[in-house]
Amino acid sequence: MAFLESVTMARQLKPFKVLPWILSRHVAPSTSSRHGRLASTATSAPSPSMYKFVVVGGGSGGLAMASSLSRKHGKGQVAVIEPSEEHFYQPMWTLVGGGIKKKEQSRGLTKDVMPKACDWIKEKAVEFDPENNSVKTSGGKVVQYDYLVVAMGLQLNFDKLKGLPEALENDPMVCCNYSYNTVDKTFKALQNFKSGNAIFTIPNTPVKCAGAPQKIMYLTEEYFRQNNKRDKATVMYCSPLPSIFSAPKYAAVMMEICKKRGIQVNLRHNLVEIKPQSKEAVFAKLDTEPNETITLPYEMLHVPPPMGPPDILKASPLAGPAGFLSVNKETGQHTKYPNVFGIGDCTDFPTSKTAAAAAAQSGVLKKTINAVVNGLTPVAKYDGYTSCPLITGRRSCVLAEFDYNLEPLETFPFDQSKERRSMYHMKADFMPTMYWHAFVKGLWTGPALYRKIMHLGFSR
Ligand SMILES: Cc1cc2nc3c(=O)[nH]c(=O)nc-3n(C[C@H](O)[C@H](O)[C@H](O)COP(=O)(O)OP(=O)(O)OC[C@H]3O[C@@H](n4cnc5c(N)ncnc54)[C@H](O)[C@@H]3O)c2cc1C
Repeated sequence: MAFLESVTMARQLKPFKVLPWILSRHVAPSTSSRHGRLASTATSAPSPSMYKFVVVGGGSGGLAMASSLSRKHGKGQVAVIEPSEEHFYQPMWTLVGGGIKKKEQSRGLTKDVMPKACDWIKEKAVEFDPENNSVKTSGGKVVQYDYLVVAMGLQLNFDKLKGLPEALENDPMVCCNYSYNTVDKTFKALQNFKSGNAIFTIPNTPVKCAGAPQKIMYLTEEYFRQNNKRDKATVMYCSPLPSIFSAPKYAAVMMEICKKRGIQVNLRHNLVEIKPQSKEAVFAKLDTEPNETITLPYEMLHVPPPMGPPDILKASPLAGPAGFLSVNKETGQHTKYPNVFGIGDCTDFPTSKTAAAAAAQSGVLKKTINAVVNGLTPVAKYDGYTSCPLITGRRSCVLAEFDYNLEPLETFPFDQSKERRSMYHMKADFMPTMYWHAFVKGLWTGPALYRKIMHLGFSR
């Protein structure tokens, strides 16, 4: 990095600690290496690698950012720290659970989606040291950066729900679409269902795609109808939340659909324990004080696990009060460290955590980072756009799109709260292609432009 650029950044970093920042660039002896620059010639400690940009997490948001940053800044400037050899298109897991797609269709190899101009560090990040602009990895590397993008996603905490690990291991009728390892249990459970309660839950924690826990319920209910099992099944949705969906326009529609299809909705019911031996699920009724519990027998139980910020992020100085990466909700810039940015599920953007949100954030974040790199104040503003294709059957979907205020922000010039076959095909057939060919390449930043065109300019 040119000295002048460093000084500009150092000025931006005020009043934060700037000395280590400058020292790391201009005092330590440095030599060139294939991976950006090698900062130290010391032999006792591992040599830190230096990059202009380090992206932690090569999932949806991380790859979108790594692709655009490496396209703009060139080879050797961007490193991605990502331990997984496999990359998953997670939104497809709803369809896998419903028996519509094979789980292998959701899987790619990280080496095939990793931008060629990036250096892939195939390890876990284990410690953030933002005062010294470095990240430590599981292999003992110290990776230094000028700018850091954190994109680690949500951590699944299966062990935080009593009985869940055992139930997933031992009970074929307890299933979960939230992991590649468990997603194929779901359709088998649908096929093996005989009679009784089919219960669908959502955890009392932040959750990725908060619509997914109910989408699989609609697919199940439809499957039961089509396979002469419906009259032997009580289908129910148990949620700790006060409403079936966050945005009121779509919540009203989903409640109507449940009513029409005889689905029982138990709000303010929080799953606290699974007893696989007696096939019972225990719920705390959150509207009672102290919380009463109710035990429901199940024949089939779909359980997304409790989720939260990754432990290493939570334990780092980058975390906000809830443990997520603390970002400015409009720009994506960290609230304390101006050379740190965040995208996707690991951040505290107060919107629902979806790939669609990460896409829209990536458009803003590119502009924010560009401004910061050039010593300017970021002006691009993220409006909280997120989207949830609420699949209600094998040919129908309500495409929810909304903003920070939970107000609809619909792309198409028709009422998207109606169930439509076209929206189903968009979710099932168009979006996967778009994901692999545009999203992870940083070429899809959400539908804002199309929304404007389709509304003849009369849209936000
Ligand atoms: C069942 C299901 C259905 C969904 N449906 C939809 C949908 O219809 N529409 C939609 O828009 N979204 C949907 N989503 C949500 C969407 O998949 C996520 O919101 C999106 O993938 C978030 O992107 P991300 O980059 O924040 O996290 P991820 O894509 O999860 O990536 C996080 C990456 O960080 C890596 N990582 C974690 N810890 C470390 C570490 N210590 N060091 C380095 N790397 C690390 C992980 O290996 C991973 O590759 C769904 C998700 C699920 C599970």
